[in-house]
Amino acid sequence: MVKIERSYPPPKSLSLKRSYKERDVIERLRKDFFGKCYICGLNQLPDINVEHLLPHKEDIIKKFDWDNLFLSCPHCNSVKNKKEYEDKILDCCKIDPEEKINFEFNEEDINIFSKDESDEKAVQTSKLIYEVFNIKNTGIREYTSYFRFKALQEEMLIFFNILEEYNREKNNFSLRSLKEKLKRESRFAAFKRNYMRKNIKKYSEFKEILEYNNTIKK
Ligand SMILES: [Zn+2]
Repeated sequence: MVKIERSYPPPKSLSLKRSYKERDVIERLRKDFFGKCYICGLNQLPDINVEHLLPHKEDIIKKFDWDNLFLSCPHCNSVKNKKEYEDKILDCCKIDPEEKINFEFNEEDINIFSKDESDEKAVQTSKLIYEVFNIKNTGIREYTSYFRFKALQEEMLIFFNILEEYNREKNNFSLRSLKEKLKRESRFAAFKRNYMRKNIKKYSEFKEILEYNNTIKK
């Protein structure tokens, strides 16, 4: 999960309060969210859902509120659909989740936890993100969680290979490739950015690209 700059004004079709899945909404969400699921961070999604951060329960305001609409994959949308996550997930358009949560990747597992144990939203958001990579309570979910974990492993392998080349050669090509991999729009960006931040003494030249972003544009 990374910070998203939501664009304004809201897509026009929302004012009609008929559907929150019109073409202009989908196009805008895809653009603002870099085509990534805001929960797992996977991009190039074959299927997408328009997710309500706060469940609308047929409340007309929440249902068509642009600030409440998020781009997700169907897997994460369904995992989030639980009482314990209701109104407990960080709004990544207002708060930088990287400032609140540690996204650690350890080859065979991930470790996601709130930096502040008393921050309930950060705690529940960490739990949800861990779950979308690990939940195995049905055959389908075992497949969809594993698919995401595998994709994360592959991305981290590519990232560490580029990092190794950068450490060895210090050439412009590997520097450029690394910067691409550290952009918020790249897949699973929070895990890569977390790694660099943890090793910031060695990689101080990346400090700027790793800065938190808590400016709210409206
Ligand atoms: Zn997802």
